[in-house]
Amino acid sequence: MTETLLVDPQALTSLIDEVLRADGCSVDEADCVAVHLVDASLRGHDSHGVIRLPRYHSWLGSGRIKARQPLSPIASFGAARQFDGGSGMGQWLAREATSEGIALAREQGIGVVALRRAGHIGRVGAFAEQAAEAGYISLFFVNVGGSRLVAPFGSAQRVGSTAPVAIGVPNPEGDDFILDFATSKVAEGKALVAARGGKRLPGDALMGADGRLTDDPEVLYGPSLKEGTPDPQAGPGALTAFGDHKGSGLMLACELLGGALTGNGTNGRSDRAFGNGMLAIFLDPARFNDLGGFGGEVAHYIDFVRSSSPAQGVEDVLIPGDKERRTRAERLRTGLPVPSPVLSAILKVASDLDLGWREEQLRRSVLSRAESG
Ligand code: NAD
Repeated sequence: MTETLLVDPQALTSLIDEVLRADGCSVDEADCVAVHLVDASLRGHDSHGVIRLPRYHSWLGSGRIKARQPLSPIASFGAARQFDGGSGMGQWLAREATSEGIALAREQGIGVVALRRAGHIGRVGAFAEQAAEAGYISLFFVNVGGSRLVAPFGSAQRVGSTAPVAIGVPNPEGDDFILDFATSKVAEGKALVAARGGKRLPGDALMGADGRLTDDPEVLYGPSLKEGTPDPQAGPGALTAFGDHKGSGLMLACELLGGALTGNGTNGRSDRAFGNGMLAIFLDPARFNDLGGFGGEVAHYIDFVRSSSPAQGVEDVLIPGDKERRTRAERLRTGLPVPSPVLSAILKVASDLDLGWREEQLRRSVLSRAESG
């Protein structure tokens, strides 16, 4: 049993912000990444939340990702823009690239943004939310260069990344549709969460080198699991792709669109530097809406889906985005659950950076403790 602490999200955001500033990030980058990580945890995606901080700290130290890299324009044609992120802070770069795409969609009805060599952009749904809040549809195809982790359908060998897809559709009369997932059965971070005492993985989430399905994160991380920042490249096995041949095909499409097209590179080569490649398409629904019914149709359809009769054992039929909204509301009310080993790893980073005063502040912000499986 691992102890889980309920922490004040604001105090944790401040601590992460201070750590990233001490690691060389600009104030805007540090604020953006700290808010993104805590928000991902609040929305229930612990794999892309605060657990990432020690890894970012170590990567900033080794130069695997770099602070203060601008969103560098590479090409501009029609309604498309291509950018290079210079291995910078991914969440900040993706937020800025999304703003560019929204501006293009506002001017031209459509915006296409290709971003290569972004550090780690985190929870891709955050950018679909950013576009939906501004009233725009968005589609994201992302690959993770230098991160060969996933065995595709029919293979026992790693060939691709966890390559996330996100689609956002604004709902002018209610909750936006935010679909956002990794094309591996579980995101890599979920294997890390499981290895650190969090939620156990499904029995077919991983594959050993012998081609057998397993839930044991050790096949992914190997002996590095005992280290402070486990390396998912170090194990003999692989994550599996979701959705049989269909999900596996989507993963390969992300390698081609987010990897080959953006210039980030696919995982066909093993010598690539780590970094997200993102192809994002933004649409202004008003331009496709000659009959003027888009907003009402979206709202009606979402209500229709939610009001359909639930399957056995299901309480409510949800639309994509609902689970995250509910989890966030709940965690804002109760405090953010953080497994004690995750909090210790964050506090160790803070104390290594002489941010001991923050550590004390954070310890005071622990609201309560609970045992989790
Ligand atoms: P997941 O399996 O939890 O699926 C999440 C999606 O399913 C969401 O859209 C959610 O609203 C929807 N959903 C969940 N329960 C539902 C229900 N009962 N009814 C209807 N819809 C439901 O997500 P995941 O694959 O574990 O991905 C986690 C995160 O990891 C994502 O935010 C993704 O962007 C991120 N990720 C990032 C990278 C990267 O390199 N930056 C790589 C992989 C994954």
